[in-house]
Amino acid sequence: MSEHWIDLRSDTVTQPGDAMRAAMQRAEVGDDVYGDDPTVNRLQQTAAEMFGYEAALFAPSGTQTNLIALMVHCGRGDEYLVGQEAHTFKYEGGGAAVLGSIQPQPIANQPDGSIALADIEAYIKPDDIHFARTRVLALENTIGGRVLGADYIAAATSLAHARGLATHLDGARICNAAVKQGISLRDATAGFDTVSVCLSKGLGAPVGSVLCGPTKFIEQGKRWRKMLGGGMRQAGILAAAGLYALEHNIDRLADDHVNAAALAQGLSAIDALTINAPQTNIFWMDVPAAACEPLRAALERERIRATVGPRMRLVTHLDVSALDVERTIAVFTAFFKDWRNNS
Ligand SMILES: *Cc1c(COP(=O)(O)O)cnc(C)c1O
Repeated sequence: MSEHWIDLRSDTVTQPGDAMRAAMQRAEVGDDVYGDDPTVNRLQQTAAEMFGYEAALFAPSGTQTNLIALMVHCGRGDEYLVGQEAHTFKYEGGGAAVLGSIQPQPIANQPDGSIALADIEAYIKPDDIHFARTRVLALENTIGGRVLGADYIAAATSLAHARGLATHLDGARICNAAVKQGISLRDATAGFDTVSVCLSKGLGAPVGSVLCGPTKFIEQGKRWRKMLGGGMRQAGILAAAGLYALEHNIDRLADDHVNAAALAQGLSAIDALTINAPQTNIFWMDVPAAACEPLRAALERERIRATVGPRMRLVTHLDVSALDVERTIAVFTAFFKDWRNNS
């Protein structure tokens, strides 16, 4: 049995490797609240350039970059249109409402992760004192591992702009989407006024996200970042890891997609499981409820970490190798062979 744990819970679990740690160790630093940390500044310039924006802002988390974006786009009593399944709505503690006085208008996501254009249109409120002012359309790409189509994004963002709304992309995994589609990062973010990108997911940095947008927007965002407690001092140590990630870890996301496909393919041979074929590095499968508890124990024994449940998410990343995928398939196959024989 291998000593190495295979961790399929999330791509947030990646460990910074030796080369990334060396870059962090070497980083020139200043005080970023004064704006004079050269490594943070370089990361922000690099990100702005790569994703096609005037400026960028480094912050401790994607939850914070999304919140900052919404707080700049919206004032008190404004609202944003967002998918029911979106991270900003569902997994960020209600921050827009709690801290931003911004009302979310959640809208059902379609099976492909999009928000129907007719729904966007229908939820934009008329100018009437009864209604919150609809200011922003927020989309997420990838969403639950699914890639939004370029035609859909063009149509949705054009519709929003035509109706006077701003557009924000929660692009936590936009690099996965771009790599999957074989398009540039700039093409992947086209149509969005602002984008938040996670450096600490598949890109492998230990901490941090960047918010990209127009210079004036980022200047305003800097005030909210300070208020939210995201003004960091010698943050160049962290920014160096983010720069390393942007410079070295984007193209290799294709490996994660190949590994996810191989894992899904291998698991699909198990009758008890129903697999949703992955588009990128995340996929979902249905597990019989009665199998969940013993499966959890079996995976633990075999040094595999996963969030086991009747609807289970599996995620590949730079610390999951093709060999790890083979071992995982073998463990699942052996478990379900036994489970079927004994049930
Ligand atoms: C991870 C994630 C975020 C931000 O999460 P943090 O843990 O706060 O960095 C935002 N949106 C999506 C879709 C995410 O997966």
